[in-house]
Amino acid sequence: MEGTEEKTASNPMNVDVEMPRQRPKERVKNFKEVALGYTEEMAIQEARRCMQCKNPPCIKGCPVDVPIPSFIDCILQGKYAEGIAVIKTKNSLPAVCGRVCPQEGQCQMNCVRGKKGDPVNIGRLERFLADWEREHGAQIPERTPSTGKKIAVIGGGPAGLTAAADLVKMGHAVTLFEALHVAGGVLSYGIPEFRLPKDIVQKEIEYVQKLGVDLRLGNLIGRIHTIPELMEQGYHAIFISSGAGLPQWTGCPGENLGGIYSANEFLIRVNLMKAYNFPEQDTPIRIGKHVVVIGGGNVAMDCARISMRLGAKVCLNYRRSRTELPARREEIENAEEEGLMCNFLNAPAEFYGDEKGWVRSMRCTCMELTESDEKGRQGVKPIACSDFEVDADTIIVAIGQTPNPIIQRTTAGLKTDPRNGTIIVDEDGRTNLDGVFAGGDVATGAATVISAMGAGKRAAKAMHEYLMNEGPRGERPSTGN
Ligand SMILES: Cc1cc2nc3c(=O)[nH]c(=O)nc-3n(C[C@H](O)[C@H](O)[C@H](O)COP(=O)(O)OP(=O)(O)OC[C@H]3O[C@@H](n4cnc5c(N)ncnc54)[C@H](O)[C@@H]3O)c2cc1C
Ligand code: SF4
Repeated sequence: MEGTEEKTASNPMNVDVEMPRQRPKERVKNFKEVALGYTEEMAIQEARRCMQCKNPPCIKGCPVDVPIPSFIDCILQGKYAEGIAVIKTKNSLPAVCGRVCPQEGQCQMNCVRGKKGDPVNIGRLERFLADWEREHGAQIPERTPSTGKKIAVIGGGPAGLTAAADLVKMGHAVTLFEALHVAGGVLSYGIPEFRLPKDIVQKEIEYVQKLGVDLRLGNLIGRIHTIPELMEQGYHAIFISSGAGLPQWTGCPGENLGGIYSANEFLIRVNLMKAYNFPEQDTPIRIGKHVVVIGGGNVAMDCARISMRLGAKVCLNYRRSRTELPARREEIENAEEEGLMCNFLNAPAEFYGDEKGWVRSMRCTCMELTESDEKGRQGVKPIACSDFEVDADTIIVAIGQTPNPIIQRTTAGLKTDPRNGTIIVDEDGRTNLDGVFAGGDVATGAATVISAMGAGKRAAKAMHEYLMNEGPRGERPSTGN
């Protein structure tokens, strides 16, 4: 019977197989991957815990509908190539998702094993198969006959890569325009090497290219070509997946002092330009001895863990309490094991500099929790006369990102939300302009890898429908100039 056993030490089926990890004292001195992956024996042992439910609730928790029990069954039978093929029917980036997806709030949250014990560790099993495939060579599906339709995808993050992969599999000719010199979006420039090694991201990008996607790097759309120009060049439909890469600032006095970074700048320097390897790499990063990271999400946690690896003492300042930290539990625990200190329930009020214009300290105001909003999130309000000062010679502001407005500004009539600049879409990613779709962080604001991938999948399906059956509707895009 599903989910009826007790969670006891005497019943090993209720306890998941632990993932080997680098020890905290060692890993905080290097940028190598922290989690080391299951061995074959571990994967089979964990796969045995899956009860192959008839109506598997885990699938309902997966934004891209991966047939979870089927791929787990393949592991049990030793059919690894079949297992990864099952995953890839729905997910073109399994090595990424197996590492960074918040499974604890999605598929694993629904797993019936979780009622009386640990849920089946679906993410680790997905990672096992993806890593097995990388070692043994990926199978490339045969090309679908051409539909004669040309599609432009703008932005090579998880939303764009997923939409491009799905559209090319449907027989369309897909060009993927990426502004940076590497694709991957946040997977390449944001999430650090010790959580998501870049050679793994590169392999996933190569897989999408091998499917037939024409990847054009260094192409900032809105500058090199606009969307109306792409339409004039013969693209029949466009998918905008340009992410949310514009940093938000606190707006407090003193924020322009030296030593205060936005999380984006800090992460790009370290991850993309490999500043942690300076002077072997050209880009330096100046980091002090006492770093304060402002924020509490995955971005803040990554900045904090990088700073510790660069030799600093790090304190995370978050305006709510530990319970409300939005970062993944696993990453909070990893960071604390590595020596992260946390200062909860306070917000920055002012930054102070030294005579050279470099930050030296920060004034903070204590906060208290108030009632929850309609989404169930606790509010906060400042406590009067509660300010205190903390020393800091580097401050990293990680309080959120919004979309870069360049595409929105160069595409007349494209409807956006005036509050945050996100592009307004329906549930399938249709914008108000004919043939123009959008999805991922550019439409939702900063979210997760898998939600961006889900948006890419839904939009790809809707674009296929549009190109093959529906035909033009609404206003065509124009520059409006
Ligand atoms: C540091 C950090 C850690 C995170 N950790 C996690 C995690 O652990 N788990 C998780 O699920 N999510 C995590 N996230 C969130 C997740 O990475 C994002 O939600 C996801 O990457 C969004 O995907 P996207 O494809 O919409 O956008 P992005 O990944 O931002 O990709 C957008 C791409 O578009 C390109 N682009 C932008 N403008 C243009 C233009 N005009 N022309 C051409 N190209 C353009 C950009 O260069 C970029 O490559 C993290 C985010 C950050 C920043
Ligand atoms: S992973 Fe969990 S919910 Fe899914 S089939 Fe296995 S036991 Fe059932």
